[in-house]
Amino acid sequence: MSMTTVLRNYIDGAFVDSTELHDVINPATGEVLARSPLSAQADVDRAIAAARAAQKPWARKPAIERAQYLHRIAAKLRENVERIARIITQEQGKITPLAQVEVNFTADYLDYMAGWARRIEGEVITSDRPNESIFLLRKPLGVVAGILPWNFPFFLIARKMAPALVTGNTIVIKPSEETPINCNAFTEIAADVGLPPGVFNVVYGKGETGGALSAHAGVDMISFTGSVATGVRIQAASAPHITKLNLELGGKAPAIVLADADLDLAVKAIHQSRIINTGQVCNCAERVYVERRVADEFINRIAQAMQATKYGDPIAQPDVDMGPLINQEALESVTAKVRRAVQEGAQVVTGGAPADLGQGFHYQPTVLAGCNNSMDIMRHEIFGPVLPIQVVEDLDEAIALANDCEYGLTSSVYTRDLAKSLKAMRELDFGETYINRENFEAMQGFHAGVRKSGVGGADGKHGLYEYTHTHVVYVES
Ligand code: NAD
Repeated sequence: MSMTTVLRNYIDGAFVDSTELHDVINPATGEVLARSPLSAQADVDRAIAAARAAQKPWARKPAIERAQYLHRIAAKLRENVERIARIITQEQGKITPLAQVEVNFTADYLDYMAGWARRIEGEVITSDRPNESIFLLRKPLGVVAGILPWNFPFFLIARKMAPALVTGNTIVIKPSEETPINCNAFTEIAADVGLPPGVFNVVYGKGETGGALSAHAGVDMISFTGSVATGVRIQAASAPHITKLNLELGGKAPAIVLADADLDLAVKAIHQSRIINTGQVCNCAERVYVERRVADEFINRIAQAMQATKYGDPIAQPDVDMGPLINQEALESVTAKVRRAVQEGAQVVTGGAPADLGQGFHYQPTVLAGCNNSMDIMRHEIFGPVLPIQVVEDLDEAIALANDCEYGLTSSVYTRDLAKSLKAMRELDFGETYINRENFEAMQGFHAGVRKSGVGGADGKHGLYEYTHTHVVYVES
């Protein structure tokens, strides 16, 4: 990608020039990778009008025909895994093997969602009246706005567009301003497979562009993944239109390590979960509750694993385990959170400061012991490679502390005791729980949070049906 690359919005089947642009930065080096549009209200209006005009003809096509476009995009993605993965690594900072997993998973996800085309089911139910049939039809909502974060920027395009399109909606995507280049790669492929104009549109920009989409009367559903703070703004902006919302927001996943756990497994899984994508994952382990009997051993071993983590520029040093944080603001935020934790009484076991590599936004893999649930570091998302740990007396205390949180996305438990696993399953108030492993979630599952982690969910049958409404028809004959 040369310095002069300029991205263009994709509206109504055409790439459109913009005059207002901003720089896209490689977070490992600070290098400018491309210039990307800052779309205004007029661009958003045009994209929504195009999506609206295309929607009815698109919905009238048989679902299996709509699905064929998704299969074709998936096939082309598989031919371009290395090229796209490199773009993701450059603009987002995740290591290339993980970026390759992201591209392959995106292709699999498109195929999986396309596979629902022949399985979208309505119902026929009994009536209280003679000579009447009652039909429940599943219908598309209309125009969907998909607003995306930067941490899995490529996969999240598919997570929004695939269920939207297969059920007969059209979509306007707004990627994160941090990571537009991979979206351009996806869009070129979508254009190449001949999707009808207006079915899939992209407007680049920052919060103002997302705000214009959120407040727009022409949007029937907003499918958003990002922070709680932005989710609140989207709810407020869309309230006058009673727009349907699907919000996948932040997490503060507790990992509970019990004394009977397989410690090798717990250390390996929690370490991997905390460094993957440099800790910038909504459902990775963000806090640990460890039973006193194994606490010292667990803390020593996880600190060793964190200390041994190799980090740096994932393009210049392809063997690193971890790349940089996304930007300067993220580096300052993680730095401030660790400093505050230490002021509140946490002890730094390893790491504890930004990593001075001469360039980029790197932070040392960090373990904090002596934490407790009144500390800010145990209550709010860190989104960096920092693991705060609290010692607990038993499972009951761990569950109570885990549930005492404004987020409710993911949780995990390490134990060999079936009864304890089942108790955790019953009593943890979260959208998802992993027993003896960490993220990631399955595409056929249902990824959703409770409390401030979101509204609605994604993936599987339940995620697909979020993009539909139920139309009841009473027929007397
Ligand atoms: P963010 O909320 O800062 O930005 C997300 C998107 O919203 C971007 O495209 C941004 O431009 C846009 N935006 C900003 N202000 C807006 C406004 N006022 N109206 C409409 N759109 C606006 O989030 P981020 O920093 O990109 O992503 C990190 C967050 O995403 C973390 O909190 C993480 O937990 C969360 N996340 C959640 C999931 C999940 O599935 N629950 C998955 C990935 C990330």
